[in-house]
Amino acid sequence: MIGVAVLGSTGSVGESTLDVLARHPDRFRLVAIAANTNAAKLAQQVLAWHPAYAALADERAARELRQLLGRAAPQTRVLAGSEALEEIAQAAEVQCVMAAIVGAAGLRSTLAAARAGKRLLLANKEALVMAGPLLIAAVKRSGATLLPIDSEHNAIFQCLPPGVTPGVAPPGLKRLLLTASGGPFRDLPGEALAAVTPEAALAHPNWVMGRKISVDSATLMNKGLEFIEACLLFGVTPAQVQILVHPQSIVHSLVEYLDGSVLAQLSAPDMRTPIAHALAWPERISSGVEFLDLLKAGRLDFRAPDTTRFPCLALAQAAARAGGLDPVVLNAANEVAVQAFLERRLNFPGIAAVIEAVVQRGSGGAIGALEDVLAADAESRVRARERIDGITRSAAVRDAHA
Ligand code: NDP
Repeated sequence: MIGVAVLGSTGSVGESTLDVLARHPDRFRLVAIAANTNAAKLAQQVLAWHPAYAALADERAARELRQLLGRAAPQTRVLAGSEALEEIAQAAEVQCVMAAIVGAAGLRSTLAAARAGKRLLLANKEALVMAGPLLIAAVKRSGATLLPIDSEHNAIFQCLPPGVTPGVAPPGLKRLLLTASGGPFRDLPGEALAAVTPEAALAHPNWVMGRKISVDSATLMNKGLEFIEACLLFGVTPAQVQILVHPQSIVHSLVEYLDGSVLAQLSAPDMRTPIAHALAWPERISSGVEFLDLLKAGRLDFRAPDTTRFPCLALAQAAARAGGLDPVVLNAANEVAVQAFLERRLNFPGIAAVIEAVVQRGSGGAIGALEDVLAADAESRVRARERIDGITRSAAVRDAHA
């Protein structure tokens, strides 16, 4: 029995993970679940699974959880605060950690799992984008097993020879071909992008995902973050990663070798496939995902991404080339800008404009320690908020003069 902790259990990846775990009660035991504020959903999960630990980063929400559970779950210890998530990630009863918290909030618990030598199922791509060298060094030092959950990186992992070391390209590898659905605005003319709503951005054509990653998919920042993630995870240079827009989301990514062979992983667009793969690796287990019917799919299309309409991708590629703290600055500005877009304080093209302004003023520099990462993250958030406030103020002045 493998003890599993699901950090971010109330989210889209978290729920898909519980769905796969429920299909294999003979293999996995859910030891811990954790989220931020959603006490109601976490209470339901506690009552369904009876884990040893349930944690909420938000202290008030944790009190609510205790009230909701009353005496109904005596076997579950309710923990509060973000340190509790790190505690869970290192717990002795936990052998496998699903890191599925969204954004920078997942960094410390993801690092804690890596340092504790766990089998680390990495969905929280922002943690890797921010602190890739630290995370990979921690994995190597502790002997942790790092398995990518992002469908593209999981696909690449599946197409690599066995025994690859995190951050080291296997011999004979030429390029990685990273596919992108193109998001809901793939075919929208550039002029129309200023008027798109958060609701339209959240309606992804192929995947059902959390709010932040859905907006990232619409701006192509998700592919940009994945571009950085691919370089770090597989030890390739930015020049060795090509992005292909593939509207059907069936080919999840490809690996090209020096002999001209190209290996791909295909499956229906459902996160339970990479989750089941990583949970059972190197074995294979059922995931509940519908089997692929290529005759029904009929065709697989590929085209180049348009970085004029979607400048976030080019900004992320530039950050990947610069390395050091640039990806941290990019990621933090993006998190703040996406939140402002969801709150209707910024329009869709404004997301890239804010990131560009913050990245240009840059902080540069190399990553020495976690403190460098956290400082660059905090500074970049301040600058992004200032920029958004500036945009909001100018819009208010324009409206007043109109
Ligand atoms: P969701 O928004 O659906 O879920 C986010 C989860 O993180 C929730 O459980 C939420 O808790 C928790 N959370 C948010 N903030 C905090 C915090 N400060 N402390 C502790 N927990 C927190 O996101 P997704 O499941 O879509 O994405 C999760 C990660 O996986 C992201 O990094 C994303 O990029 C990546 N990913 C997602 C894919 C998908 O298909 N959804 C595909 C590939 C990667 P609460 O509910 O209480 O707010």
